[in-house]
Amino acid sequence: MSRSAHPAGPRHADVYPEGHYSAPPADLNGLDEKVWAKTVTRNDAGVTTVGGIEVTRLAEEFGTPAYFLDEADFRARCRAWADAFGKDADVFYAGKAFLSRAVVKWLHEEGLNLDVCSGGELTTALDAGMPADRIAFHGNNKSPEEIERAVRVGVGRIVLDSFQEIVRVAHIAQSLGKRQRVQIRVTVGVEAHTHEFIATAHEDQKFGIPLAGGQAAEAVRRALQLDGLEVIGIHSHIGSQIFDTSGFEVAAHRVVGLLKQIRDEHGVELPEIDLGGGLGIAYTPDDDPREPHDIAKALNEIVTRECEAARLRTPRISVEPGRAIVGPTAFTLYEVGTIKPLEGLRTYVSVDGGMSDNIRTALYDAEYSVALVSRRSDAEPMLSRVVGKHCESGDIVVKDAFLPADLAPGDLIAVPATGAYCRSMASNYNHALRPPVVAVADGEARVIVRRETEEDLLRLDVG
Ligand SMILES: *Cc1c(COP(=O)(O)O)cnc(C)c1O
Repeated sequence: MSRSAHPAGPRHADVYPEGHYSAPPADLNGLDEKVWAKTVTRNDAGVTTVGGIEVTRLAEEFGTPAYFLDEADFRARCRAWADAFGKDADVFYAGKAFLSRAVVKWLHEEGLNLDVCSGGELTTALDAGMPADRIAFHGNNKSPEEIERAVRVGVGRIVLDSFQEIVRVAHIAQSLGKRQRVQIRVTVGVEAHTHEFIATAHEDQKFGIPLAGGQAAEAVRRALQLDGLEVIGIHSHIGSQIFDTSGFEVAAHRVVGLLKQIRDEHGVELPEIDLGGGLGIAYTPDDDPREPHDIAKALNEIVTRECEAARLRTPRISVEPGRAIVGPTAFTLYEVGTIKPLEGLRTYVSVDGGMSDNIRTALYDAEYSVALVSRRSDAEPMLSRVVGKHCESGDIVVKDAFLPADLAPGDLIAVPATGAYCRSMASNYNHALRPPVVAVADGEARVIVRRETEEDLLRLDVG
């Protein structure tokens, strides 16, 4: 193989090393609509645009790395979930996926509810005007201060996660002269990830109270006796990045079993069940997520069928999608720096961010796709690994992807589907400055979370 100005590394399928990729796509300039936000397209000049604005202009104005969030797509997804579940169910957006005041405002306007799991998330939600009764408070170790504030402001529900918390919340509510609406989070012995779920007898994890051994039934028994609590239902969350509803089927079956036991023992039919979140999105074109409408139909059918069999009134359902709403709506824009071809392996493409703005690849072995977005290229596909600038060899953003062989420093590349768990999990590792989130809609772009500055770093470092 001859060496050019930009040696391209391995090119032919028979010399590709083992990896997480299929054959190179026919056209590297294509932007698969499955993985990109709705308004993303490539204009006649070959430059990618979002909300009608060229990424080259966005990079000039806001710098890189940066997250660009398609507001129209975000709102459309909120409406799709709300419409799919209708008036007899509640959709709670899981704020931990990505939360900012603008997001809270959009959720409020589109009629969604909001899950928070810390005092910080609660503050953001309230500050941006989310009515407290549309907020659910989660977490396996809420502090007494967090609980007190949640009860005081009147959150719609607190999801109880342990025996200690049942007593603690009851006590705090009572001392404030209140009766707090609560759900009890149970672990049903189902663990779901992507296409498979595993049904297990025991739950070896920190969340929830196990159904196994009658623990969840005992938790309900105790909660029902406490004046400070109004037990409105049972909560179950089975996993993340799930594409198939069969795990929910087993979960619903087991939760309804508990509802039946509660009815038989206490004469009480709890009015609500929450099936959690975890619905998958397309990170690469190989992923096939289901539409909210299909998911709603399947979950409603499952719960209705199980309740009929148990002769229970069908409870009100709630779901808590985080990733499925915000994930697909944003991409991360990076500038290409050093390019290092490793003969017989792949080409390492360094960008100006990395694990500080996307920890998911290092943490979960997540897969992403990537595209050259600042121009068109008809060069051959080059097997690439997109890496960051951090002092850590696991600092990988995209493990294996094809980029054009004429890629050069200064090009802009974008990683789609980074709306969830990227900015919210961003760190200051190596004193990196966490990137801004820029909302783009109808030809206008505005910063909703600004870029950190070195002054921000120094302000925290009090010497
Ligand atoms: C994380 C979480 C969610 C959201 O999960 P997604 O994968 O983002 O949909 C919903 N409910 C609970 C209880 C969670 O912990």
